[in-house]
Amino acid sequence: MIVAMQENATEDQIFAVIETMEEAGVSVHRTTGASQTILAGVGPTAKIDLGIFEVLPGVENVHRISVPYKLAGRAFRPEGTVVEFPNGAKIGGKQVAIIAGPCAIENREQIFTIAKCVKDAGGQFMRGGAFKPRSSPYSFQGLGIPGLELMHEAAEANGLMTVTEVMEISQIEPMMPYTDCFQVGARNFQNFNLLRELGQVRKPVLLKRGIAATIEELLLSAEYIMAGGNYDVILCERGIRTYETATRNTMDISAIPVVKKLSHLPIAGDPSHGTGRRDMVPPMAKAAVAAGADAILVEIHPNADKAASDAAQTLYLDQFQKLITELRVIATAVGRTL
Ligand code: PEP
Ligand code: MN
Repeated sequence: MIVAMQENATEDQIFAVIETMEEAGVSVHRTTGASQTILAGVGPTAKIDLGIFEVLPGVENVHRISVPYKLAGRAFRPEGTVVEFPNGAKIGGKQVAIIAGPCAIENREQIFTIAKCVKDAGGQFMRGGAFKPRSSPYSFQGLGIPGLELMHEAAEANGLMTVTEVMEISQIEPMMPYTDCFQVGARNFQNFNLLRELGQVRKPVLLKRGIAATIEELLLSAEYIMAGGNYDVILCERGIRTYETATRNTMDISAIPVVKKLSHLPIAGDPSHGTGRRDMVPPMAKAAVAAGADAILVEIHPNADKAASDAAQTLYLDQFQKLITELRVIATAVGRTL
């Protein structure tokens, strides 16, 4: 259930409503918007008489939520979520954020060269995997924590935030000092124990859509994180598996406007994993921005063809610089900045 408070509701009135909701046996998640406070009640709400709440002082309206994702649904934050980072960067506002970096952190020179390039291009976030989920156990598995130390140092030197994949609960704690945003990859997007644990963390989570996931399943996975009180979730469309073999995955651009309608959470487009092909990355990045993506995540490398993982979909640095220039034009055309 959702209780929308009046714009001028006082804190005392809000607390009284929270108390009444808790007495009715539901747990309350509060979001304080620019103009309105919204209280979401999660739990056995089916038998509750909503009329009790409608007459409480300060209440504007009360309604039941029929979608299974109460906290990830639009109604919880009608104005949309903006995830803010310690360096002032935001994902979900007017500006389209740029998250770029190698598939995997490989060495000091690689990661410092890339960090400078991202900064010079006007990006705010650098990505790089240290724990890599590889289809084959014999492929490069990532440098682990020493790799994250390198990326953190490079990011700090360039005023960037870091985004990196966490594969299991035991990695969260050691990753914490080097990570500004935990990425949950397509293979782990329904690892519910991991999602619950990330609900306890107070750092943003970038949640990728699973290879065969519906949009509803993506939003339910976000709900797992939010149910723990971590509302800073960024969704990511990274392509789904279909019968098409011309691209590595089929990038579902329509998922972007669909998610925007169903949810208040920001959504990123990842044309690198979405297509698996370097030549297809720029057009799909542009399509994602045109469709309303709040961030673009791209894999880049100074020696892209020799990248330790995902070489075929990785852009060279000059290709990335050119893409950013082109994306600025698209962003302006759809009323955004970049
Ligand atoms: C990645 O970002 O490098 C990655 C492994 O992504 P995904 O989980 O989307 O395959
Ligand atoms: Mn990759």
